[in-house]
Amino acid sequence: MPPRIPKDQITLEASYEYVVVGAGYTGLAVARRLAELNSSATILLLEATQIGEGTSGRNSGFVLTAPLTAADTDAQAVKKATRQFEIFDGGLAWLRQIVSDASIECGWNDVGKYHAAATDEGVANIRALAERYQACGLRWDEIPQAEFARRIGSPYYKYAFHTGHNVFVQPAALVRGLADSLPPNVILLEGAPVSSVSGKGPFTIELLNRRVRANKMVIANNGFAKRLGFLKNRIFNVYTYAGITPELDDDELAAHGTDAEWGILPAARAGTTLRRTSGRRFLVRSLQSYEADRSGRQVDESLEELYRQRYPGLRSHKFEYVWGGALGLTMNSESCFGEIAENLYVSAGCNGVGIMKGTVHGKLLAEQIMGLDSDDIRDVRQMNAPTWIPPDPVLRWGVTLAMTQRTKHAGAER
Ligand SMILES: Cc1cc2nc3c(=O)[nH]c(=O)nc-3n(C[C@H](O)[C@H](O)[C@H](O)COP(=O)(O)OP(=O)(O)OC[C@H]3O[C@@H](n4cnc5c(N)ncnc54)[C@H](O)[C@@H]3O)c2cc1C
Repeated sequence: MPPRIPKDQITLEASYEYVVVGAGYTGLAVARRLAELNSSATILLLEATQIGEGTSGRNSGFVLTAPLTAADTDAQAVKKATRQFEIFDGGLAWLRQIVSDASIECGWNDVGKYHAAATDEGVANIRALAERYQACGLRWDEIPQAEFARRIGSPYYKYAFHTGHNVFVQPAALVRGLADSLPPNVILLEGAPVSSVSGKGPFTIELLNRRVRANKMVIANNGFAKRLGFLKNRIFNVYTYAGITPELDDDELAAHGTDAEWGILPAARAGTTLRRTSGRRFLVRSLQSYEADRSGRQVDESLEELYRQRYPGLRSHKFEYVWGGALGLTMNSESCFGEIAENLYVSAGCNGVGIMKGTVHGKLLAEQIMGLDSDDIRDVRQMNAPTWIPPDPVLRWGVTLAMTQRTKHAGAER
């Protein structure tokens, strides 16, 4: 993306009806929907960095509306998953409309996604996942191995299937477009890290060298919420990493697959996501670290090695850009959603699928704040109850151990 001119020179009022902390997909959706529903109120949206520099701009660009992992196919689990797809589909329709109305150029491409496995255990995992799709009435198509190798230009995977329920985007372009098309009653301030929130409505919000007050507060800064004293025993950050190649030339592209744009989700939790973008590049996402960004040569080399394993015949395995980003995770993969104290609301913990989940939860949270009632709001509230997590050092020890074991176990899915 070209450099952005941030909105960081705004003169603030002393007080706002609503203040939203964090302008990723979640905070942007909350602010937009609040503004749509209450055109006479002003909403202040505070972003610590620049739009697109946070995780919302740093992801792999799968806008997913269906689950990533196999789970029980018993009637209760299927009912819950089916309801979740319906809610996500509603969110996708809303997002699609915004992208279209605001002419956001983010490479929106409705081509679905692959699930692929490179190990016997991975094959079993994604077959179980296909069963879950089946049980939920969602379509999937098995791709013969030779045909899959032809499409992606690599014989690396043993088994794959294709499903819809995914749109590809350039995530930084999408999040910038969403920020730049907000209704006029949203005041966005970038370069505005909130350092504390106190009071009980009105709340006092401390910025670097400024202070504002809010009647209602929304915490939408994901895993960083706990640095403000919220969700301490519910959410934690795990960093994951990605690299993107330079644009490949015609010869290399022609020798490495027939399909112009596709993406593969892995068959193990510590597995590698692979994507070929419409911009003629490969993107590789893998690796995890607890609470601290591990960027450096070691990350670059590990990602390059995973890329080389899949495409040994390419002339170069260097990436043009490598980056990391924080995932806000919860122990049971359920999100934090709702009113946590009077006039204090939160939506956080999208567990790695935040483009859609953050968007739709943000929209529904705004509707709840405005006093609306719907099946979607009630069901999201009821379906999301993140379980308790222990404090550090127990949490650090447990998460690090689980990540190490999963990585070993993932074998060639990495
Ligand atoms: C490498 C990678 C690949 C991923 N791939 C995908 C994918 O393909 N599909 C998908 O759906 N998800 C993916 N994710 C996850 C996805 O990006 C997140 O789930 C999503 O960004 C969550 O959105 P959010 O708005 O809730 O939080 P965030 O995107 O984290 O936004 C929170 C915002 O709050 C700001 N903030 C933090 N603290 C403060 C403060 N004190 N004051 C003010 N602002 C603050 C941050 O700067 C940030 O901009 C990926 C993540 C990574 C790192």
